[in-house]
Amino acid sequence: MLISPVDIPLLETQDISHFINGIRLREILTSNQGKTIPSDFYVLNHENFYVIYTSGSTGSPKGVQISYNNLMSFINWMKNDFGLLNHQVFLNQAPFSFDLSVMDIYPCLFLGGSLWMLPKEYIAAPKELFLSLEKSSANVWVSTPSFVDFCLSDDRFSASMLPGLTTFLFCGEALPNTTTVKIRERFPKAVIFNTYGPTECTVAATSIRIDDSLIGKHESLPIGFSKKDGKVYILSETLEEMSNGEKGEIVITGPHVSKGYLNQPELTRKSFFLFNGETAYKTGDLGYMKDGLLFYAGRLDFQVKVNGYRMELEEIEAHLCSLTLVKNAIIVPNYKNEKCEFLTAVVVTRQHEFQKEFQLTAQLKKGLRGILPQYMIPRKFVYRAFLPTTNNGKIDRKKVANEVTT
Ligand code: AMP
Repeated sequence: MLISPVDIPLLETQDISHFINGIRLREILTSNQGKTIPSDFYVLNHENFYVIYTSGSTGSPKGVQISYNNLMSFINWMKNDFGLLNHQVFLNQAPFSFDLSVMDIYPCLFLGGSLWMLPKEYIAAPKELFLSLEKSSANVWVSTPSFVDFCLSDDRFSASMLPGLTTFLFCGEALPNTTTVKIRERFPKAVIFNTYGPTECTVAATSIRIDDSLIGKHESLPIGFSKKDGKVYILSETLEEMSNGEKGEIVITGPHVSKGYLNQPELTRKSFFLFNGETAYKTGDLGYMKDGLLFYAGRLDFQVKVNGYRMELEEIEAHLCSLTLVKNAIIVPNYKNEKCEFLTAVVVTRQHEFQKEFQLTAQLKKGLRGILPQYMIPRKFVYRAFLPTTNNGKIDRKKVANEVTT
């Protein structure tokens, strides 16, 4: 089936008033009802269907190009392997700039479902959030584990609030064992899927149903198996396949792998290459196989996730160091239960006239606000006269991290 703008009327948004341009959208939907679009306007084959920007270590974001074929491979997988039905209500929590939203928008469109959109402001307003969830009649839950953890912190979040909820789909960050235990208690009839993948491989490339036999069996939950039309390899630095249990970089091939970054051939060459005759993407994730299952084991670089948002610490550092008040700075992730909860900026300043640290911090945050999205701005700022270095002259990140996180 072809995706085209004529499919848009299938998207029934009950809470349409929450769109910033809600009235305009309603107009567009009504005025296009029943119209057909000439086929020369269709996006097809290797043409870009969407471009989503992700944080880049060089200081500027990278535009991941996702083609029609990439997206179709993803949608077909969603339709066939997750027990989704026609006309279900899908929950949308992720903003459209985060490719997790693709996991609810497109399967929902293709299955003639409805999308229940949670406005961003509700995240800080649990009363409105729970009222909206109660009204949603949602069947399919799509979110980061962080978001469901937030909901689970309130006892009301259970099958009595969402009696029709049959499926939980998670992606974007590690799914803790403890989260799945709570979901099983509160939603005993629902099934849980852990999916894994980067934006460069069209949302997700592996999945596994988390049933009771898996919960608590391993230190961390598995990320499962590759989609049937793709492959996942664990490779060494010299691109040799690692044996069972050995850690290596997760490399993905298949029709869901992007053609690369928009107008960034050098960055594309760094992460995309030919492997066994197919386009392969080097994820920068460490992983290993055990008992025939794939496990995620952290990052090889300075990429972190906060509340599911992906960011390169080096991008934040580059922007912080570009501010006139800053001589040098590094960003330290603060972890709790293996999850990055927030970022701390450790800053060496140039001479300035601020009397108090909070004034300086306010000024630096203001400077960053003009160049970075809010979720990338460090929560905490600490100040140092200098940053310690290792024997080979690099900033001793471990030492600084130990100082500011303990
Ligand atoms: P994004 O491109 O924003 O979707 O982020 C992709 C990155 O998120 C991956 O490369 C992983 O580092 C991390 N990630 C995604 N899904 C999972 C998962 N199920 N478990 C652990 N990490 C994940």
